[in-house]
Amino acid sequence: MAFLEICTYPNPVLKKKAVPITEIDDSVLQLAEDMIETMYQAPGIGLAANQVGRPLRLIVYDVTPKDQPRNPAVLINPEIISGEGSQSQEEGCLSVPEYYAEVKRHARVTVRGLNDRGVPVEICGEGLLAVVLQHEIDHLEGVLMLDRISALKRALYKKRRQKQLKSDNDSH
Ligand SMILES: [Zn+2]
Repeated sequence: MAFLEICTYPNPVLKKKAVPITEIDDSVLQLAEDMIETMYQAPGIGLAANQVGRPLRLIVYDVTPKDQPRNPAVLINPEIISGEGSQSQEEGCLSVPEYYAEVKRHARVTVRGLNDRGVPVEICGEGLLAVVLQHEIDHLEGVLMLDRISALKRALYKKRRQKQLKSDNDSH
């Protein structure tokens, strides 16, 4: 078990389209386990493999309320097969530090993929679960929440981030 480093914007790996997993071997299972630990430590409610520098089609998430026992899920090669309605929720992203913005997404989605035992699963989610599934599957396409906000907001964030990175560099 290990904590992984989370890649942050503008790391180019976040723009990479992740490739399907063809064999669920020990290295994939280890990665999933490490991603779950990294997600809880961050803390976050979802993580895509690109975010830890591995452009594979693998996501983990847990939308269980904090006062309830953890219930992590692993989805391999997830695909949104249908989406309906719309919702706008404030989102954050472990790869977009210190930033929150409202993002418009489907209210309900149905996702197909494989669980960590390679068994096909179909997940219907609404509300927060629907947001997390769409957000994480976006990552696998190289799409960040920044790509789903207005160009003006995006430009402001990029400016802020550049300043932040510059001052981090100056202080080292
Ligand atoms: Zn994210």
